[in-house]
Amino acid sequence: MPPCGADGSARICGRLAPSPTGYAHLGNAWAFLLAWLAARARKGVLILRLEDIDPQRSRPEFAAALLEDLRWLGLDWDQGPDVGGPLGPYEQSRRGAAYAEALARLEAAGLTYPCFCTRKELRLLAAAPHVDDAGAPYPGTCRELNAAQREALFRSGRRAAVRLRCPGESVEFEDALLGPQSFRLEECGGDFALRRSDGVVAYQLAVAVDDALMGVNQVVRGRDILPSTPRQIAPRPTTVSPMIRQASPMTTMPVPPLI
Ligand code: GLU
Repeated sequence: MPPCGADGSARICGRLAPSPTGYAHLGNAWAFLLAWLAARARKGVLILRLEDIDPQRSRPEFAAALLEDLRWLGLDWDQGPDVGGPLGPYEQSRRGAAYAEALARLEAAGLTYPCFCTRKELRLLAAAPHVDDAGAPYPGTCRELNAAQREALFRSGRRAAVRLRCPGESVEFEDALLGPQSFRLEECGGDFALRRSDGVVAYQLAVAVDDALMGVNQVVRGRDILPSTPRQIAPRPTTVSPMIRQASPMTTMPVPPLI
């Protein structure tokens, strides 16, 4: 069964992607209502995907409450953890094999490097100007370490995150409200993490893989997280097969502020 946006039709495939790290708030309700309308107005397919990748912050009771609240709002979805579907599992916590495969592809293509910077070291950079949700820009400290330096750091017991070696060229995409967008990843936080040093897959990689494999071709998200879009498009060509890549060009739509 091809992913929903990859069946050869121009059908819209949108997604509701709550992170069960707390109870629903007004911002969630607003974003999900607009995502639902944007898909349903064009007879599109909607997938509900639980973004419960962070084991420290995600809780099953929040997931259950979020689904209940979305139903209470009158929203529905065609595929999801509670209704099933051909592209599951629909919980990121159960999709580790797909993320590991994508990371292996990126590593094999030479697009990643281990990063030994500690949280403390990175926090010292926090005073630097940063772009929206991208956090402090990563200055590329570990990008050019040679094999011997990496080996020495591993031997000293340092654990490494895995970062994407971000391409220098711009990432372009169409935003249905803001028009054509062009971002250089340097402006969006630089080389970002694909896997944390504790082994947990990073949010940006999980979303890039899931959106591609599920054929999502329309993403409605808050204006504040627009810089996530280029970071999720950049690794995409290497994370999935060429067939899936061609099938799902992605459009985004920013959610305007509620007030
Ligand atoms: N899981 C994210 C959230 O709830 C979704 C963000 C997005 O990709 O639009 O904030």
